Amino acid sequence: MTQRPRHFASDNNAGISPEVLAAIVEANQGHVVGYGHDDYTERAQAAVSEIFEKECAVFFVSNGTSGNCLALSAFLESYDAVIAHEHSHLETDECNALGHFVPGVKAIPVGGPNGKIHPEAITQIVSSQRPVHGSLPRAVSLTNLSELGTVYRPEEVRTIANAAKRLGLVVHVDGARFANALASIGCSPADLSWRSGVDVLSFGGTKNGLGFGEAIVFFEPSFAGEFEYRLKQTGQLASKMRFLSAPWLGYLKDGLWLDRARHANTMAARLENLIRGLAQAEVLYPREGNAVFARIPDQAVDKLHERGWRFYNDVGPDRAARLMCSWDTTEEDVNEFADDLRVALG
Ligand SMILES: *Cc1c(COP(=O)(O)O)cnc(C)c1O
Repeated sequence: MTQRPRHFASDNNAGISPEVLAAIVEANQGHVVGYGHDDYTERAQAAVSEIFEKECAVFFVSNGTSGNCLALSAFLESYDAVIAHEHSHLETDECNALGHFVPGVKAIPVGGPNGKIHPEAITQIVSSQRPVHGSLPRAVSLTNLSELGTVYRPEEVRTIANAAKRLGLVVHVDGARFANALASIGCSPADLSWRSGVDVLSFGGTKNGLGFGEAIVFFEPSFAGEFEYRLKQTGQLASKMRFLSAPWLGYLKDGLWLDRARHANTMAARLENLIRGLAQAEVLYPREGNAVFARIPDQAVDKLHERGWRFYNDVGPDRAARLMCSWDTTEEDVNEFADDLRVALG
């Protein structure tokens, strides 16, 4: 089997961006106070607030699952529920960590085309929960970029947030690929978050060139009152916090994070176009970020796997092939894959 340096299984299979690695090395000097009371962490928090054009409360945690659960937990009682898309990471890929972080809490999955929640689903769920006998919906969680590679635009987020707020619900965004969503539509981080009614964001970077460490961003700093206690209690208050926070200084500097996401999206657009030129393969859902979903006949998938290409072939409602482009995907990777796909399809 061909050994390939890069493939399309996931954007978390890619390594660390050199600029991010340099920021880690730079932070590796001398003694620095632990638990986040250090200059690197303060500068990284300020850098996040700056890109959102607002004073935010920012916390760095190890990964996306803890980011989602901790962000939501700040708002939840044990009898609460979180409305999330049925194909969301929160619902399908986090082993109900949410119910572990806040025992008793559950997600209520809702449908909606192309991986996006339909605003009416929120009203419908809230009115169908029997008071006292059903869990109390307290938050809605959107994923942007969605798990099916589509984008919620600011006006869509606003519509959902308006529906949620009328019912007293908090709005959370799982932004594991927030950079790819922004790069796709070209709006400001503020427009796609707090200006559209988002209360708290799990701001991911690992899928886009960080090695580890996601940020939790509360747009109203007072929401974060006793949050450090939650971090500590859940084992998420890193002792050498500077190594979780300093990478963000390299990542956010001079718009690197958006450049990298734009590149991944461009590679996905190229791949999409090449696949659209092949009669026996079908692109599914609007390709808006760095993911291309396609229906590829099983025989051709087997041949591609034999050629050393790695990608999942059972993702989402259509159990489709999911081809993720990364910050380091090259045009040659895309061309070679498309050539092999053409041959595999016969
Ligand atoms: C990758 C990902 C996460 C974070 O996953 P971890 O493995 O916990 O870091 C969260 N949400 C989405 C949509 C993701 O793709």
